[in-house]
Amino acid sequence: MLIPAPLIGETDKQQSIKAAMAAARRFLVRKRRLKTKYMKIYLDNAATTPLDPAVFEAMTPYLLNHFGNPSSQHQHGREVKQAIEKSRKTIAGLLNASPDEIIFTSGGTEADNTAILAAVFGSGIHHIITTRFEHHAVLHLLKKLEKDGEIYVSYIAHDERGNLDLNDLEHLLKTSQRSLVSVMHANNEIGNINDIGLIGGICEKYNALFHTDTVQTMGHYKHDLQKLKIHFLTASAHKFHGPKGIGFLYARKGTQLAKLIHGGGQESELRAGTENIPGIIGLTKALELAYAGLKEHQKYIQQLKDRFITQLTETLPEFSFNGNSAIAGKSLYTVLSINVPTLQVDLLRCLDGYQISVSGGSACAAGASSHVLKALALAPGRDTIRFSFSKFNTKQELDYVIDKLSLIYQLVAA
Ligand code: PLP
Repeated sequence: MLIPAPLIGETDKQQSIKAAMAAARRFLVRKRRLKTKYMKIYLDNAATTPLDPAVFEAMTPYLLNHFGNPSSQHQHGREVKQAIEKSRKTIAGLLNASPDEIIFTSGGTEADNTAILAAVFGSGIHHIITTRFEHHAVLHLLKKLEKDGEIYVSYIAHDERGNLDLNDLEHLLKTSQRSLVSVMHANNEIGNINDIGLIGGICEKYNALFHTDTVQTMGHYKHDLQKLKIHFLTASAHKFHGPKGIGFLYARKGTQLAKLIHGGGQESELRAGTENIPGIIGLTKALELAYAGLKEHQKYIQQLKDRFITQLTETLPEFSFNGNSAIAGKSLYTVLSINVPTLQVDLLRCLDGYQISVSGGSACAAGASSHVLKALALAPGRDTIRFSFSKFNTKQELDYVIDKLSLIYQLVAA
């Protein structure tokens, strides 16, 4: 006798999803109220972005209802396996790639590591050309591989703004054996954008492999992988309003890969471990939303940034901008890196006291020092604050920041 599906159980599940959604909505309303009262302002979106409520909504059924293991052969397993493959197809479609070129990872760091290890141990590359501005997910691995005697590393020359000298890249490629070029699309600290179209073309000319870290640009710019000459590209969902702990590696068909995590046969035997299904669903939804609103958000955030630059220049003329940070089109519209006179007080802590969350980094001061700012060789006696914006920021918030920044400088200078 066929036992009907447990309707009561189904209702319970639906109720718990509804309850979770209602709780999330209540949280957001409360947060909005609190924000108006205390102006709690988040301007550290290059570090991570808030989860979009629509992404949370898409993920919830995969936390509560569809909990099967995708490697299981029964219906609970099959339904989530299908959801993963549908996600892979959606992401590939958005990037003009093929689904089997997308490998889910735990985020940008793992994706960067996988790409580099694939070039070294999959394709036998021993020379890697990179920049002084890459994320530690790239630079620390390169240092280790160099120390182990697996590779030698060359750094592309750059000017005082951090613009790469592509003639130097050509020279390096011309005078060495087959190489991997690892150059990020845009820098997370100063926002400089590199021309990955041009770099891909140069790599192709010299038969080099090309890896680009697009952690700061994925979901903020369009990437057409049929047009770009890229072998490896890496992304992380939490930088575009998706969940943390999930990202992906794009590996062009035909490139050799090397297994990073050993165990089960997941991700076509490349990346063992039970898949992060809610993460994959959230990543996909976040990228779909980002692509759907791309033009609108680009325009909105760039306007916020431009207005902020104008106000800062008028109100605090002693401030300047690092790298290409204040040049539209040459830097991320989401990042503004400001060079400020060093104060007797900790500026970041002062801003934090006013409930403004931003990040810093200084090449010369005690405490956290930044390899990116060091590579720019900035003038001494100055500090850096990085403001990074999202679609959730407003003009009012930035007015409040200008107000508080002027107040801090007035008080300390007095
Ligand atoms: N690459 C860049 C440029 C980043 O900004 C980050 C994170 O800040 C990463 C890689 C690492 O990404 P994840 O946090 O997903 O490991």
